[in-house]
Formats: sequence, C-alpha cells, structure tokens
Amino acid sequence: MGDKVLVTGGAGYIGSHACKALARAGFTPVAFDNLSTGWAEAVKFGPLAQGDLMDRASIDAALAEHRPVAVMHFAALSLVGESMKDPGLYWRVNVGGALNLIEACCTAGVKNFVFSSTCATYGDQDGVVLDEDTPQRPINAYGGSKRAIEDMLRDYRASHGLNHVIFRYFNVAGADPEGELGEQHHPETHLIPLMLEAVAGKRPALTVFGSDYATRDGTCVRDYVHVTDLTEAHVLGLRWLLDAKESRAFCLGSGTGFTVREVIDASRAVTNRDVPIIEGARRAGDATALISGSKRAMEELGWEPRRSTLRQMIGDAWNWAQKPEYRR
Ligand code: UDP
Repeated sequence: MGDKVLVTGGAGYIGSHACKALARAGFTPVAFDNLSTGWAEAVKFGPLAQGDLMDRASIDAALAEHRPVAVMHFAALSLVGESMKDPGLYWRVNVGGALNLIEACCTAGVKNFVFSSTCATYGDQDGVVLDEDTPQRPINAYGGSKRAIEDMLRDYRASHGLNHVIFRYFNVAGADPEGELGEQHHPETHLIPLMLEAVAGKRPALTVFGSDYATRDGTCVRDYVHVTDLTEAHVLGLRWLLDAKESRAFCLGSGTGFTVREVIDASRAVTNRDVPIIEGARRAGDATALISGSKRAMEELGWEPRRSTLRQMIGDAWNWAQKPEYRR
C-alpha cells in the first residue's frame, strides 16, 4: 500500500477523479467526505472516512487513524449564484471548514497541503489572460472565500511550516474517459451537464445566461479543462511538495476560451443532436471572460492538458450521461 493522502470531498466530482489519479500514481487515497453532495459509490480507490469539516473532532480522528503524508482539499461550496444570495454560508463553510482542516493538519504534523482554488478569485478583468501574477479581485463570495483560504495558507506556511500548492481552476469539465466516474450535482448548475440533459430530453431546454456580453457572439467566454488533466496536475503538485519544493500557486486551464454558443455548437458535433435553448438574462456574479495562462504549471510541474479539447470533454461527459450510475 502506498502513502496515504487525505482527500476532502473525495466522494465528489473532482475529488473522486483525484482519488483515481492518486491510486494510479501509487498512493492510497482516503476520501474524507460528509456525503452531503458526494456519492459513497464514487469512493472506489481507497477507504471512506466519513466526517465533516465543521466538526474538528472528525478531522482529527481521520488524521490520527490514517496518518497521511498530505491533504488534498476539495470539499467546498462552489456555486457563484448561491454565494451571491447567501455569502455567510460561504464564509462559514468554506473559510471556517478550511480553518478547521488547516489547524488540524498543523496539530497532527501534516506538512503538505494541496488546495483547490479558483479563477473566481480574479473577478472580472476585461479579457486579460489570467495567470499567477494577475491581481486577485473577486466579485462574488465564492471567489472571496477561496482567496481568503489562499491567504490563510500563506500565514500557516510562515507560522507552522505547512507547505502548500494552490491550484486555481478554470472551468472543470468532462468525465473519467474509462467511464468509472463523472459529474452529478443536485441541483446541477454547470453548463455542460445541463446542456447534455437538454440534449437527452431530461430537461426541456438549456437557458443561455446573457447574450449581451462584449464577446465575439455576446455570450460568456470560459476556459474549460478536462477533469482528468486537472487531477493529474494534483498528483504533480503533490510530488512537487514531497520533493520539498517551495509553496506555490498554479493556474490550471487549457489556455483557450470558448463562448457558451461555441460549447453548444461543439455538442451538436459530438452528439449529432440539437440542443434546445432559451435565451435568458445574465446570471448575477458571472464574469465576461475567464481565460487561463497555465505556462507555470506546464513549465514547472511538467503538466500537459492533453484531453482538454471541447470534443473530448463533451464526449466523455456524454458517455457518462448514458451510464446507469448517472442518476437524474
Ligand atoms: N451558463 C449558461 N447556462 C447555464 C449554466 C451556465 O449559459 O444553464 C453559462 C454561465 O453563464 C457561464 C458558463 O456557462 O458563462 C459556465 O458556467 P458554469 O456554471 O458551468 O461554470 P462557472 O463559470 O460558473 O464556474
């Protein structure tokens, strides 16, 4: 059995793919999850430690039982719209939960921490390619809560020697190419799964949120990155920490932006079916364009986003959406 890594949110979409990537790389992932939005069935690559980040004792117990070499922290609330309506929830759960986890790591002597942050920490910066040197100016409580955790990590690095890698994700999409795992949120809010449900007739239509943005076709531009590319970067980040490299932040995106309409067009090409759409209003908190400069991750970690084409991401998500495990 390889060294253990505690994966918070290990029963969720990205966390479960991270567990698979860790297992493949020879580690034993321990999924720490309260199963509020995650699925016990997605915990396939190591044990489940059921617990809650708001319950410090449950974190202490998992760290004492499993003695991991590192923690990967995915568990969080992540809906921009919800964070605009109820910011307190995001500050309590995301920031409060991370504080409990970070303090528990320091007490238990865990020295390596990999954190899922987000491009939402940058806010709306008018078409700039966003990289690690871009100032972070979040425009919603989700992005604000993640930036606060980044600041917290820098403080605990200085005071307690907790080494960290921060990954700022762009739009994570797709599913395990082998069909073992995929995305299932309840309620679903993300573009690609909602679009595929509309294609499959599981919902009447996809609502396009805003057609009056200053972009090439009026819809928002996002940089989509395949979930398995993303989780491979986490394994590289973990090795970086275990090799005692410095604490560092990395952006993870494909470097190419696509409009909502371009995603819809790509889906037609993959599925050979039409996407019923409704033109809707803008969604509060949405930035016009978010595009990643991921040079640092490629050059320093040797990361290669090999699967992050729209065709592959939509194809793998479509394959997953046909599986019996995909419940809707
Ligand atoms: N979007 C949309 N209709 C939907 C869901 C999303 O038009 O039903 C748009 C959204 O405005 C954004 C892009 O699709 O421009 C990606 O949104 P998603 O919620 O998937 O990710 P986010 O960018 O919020 O992280």
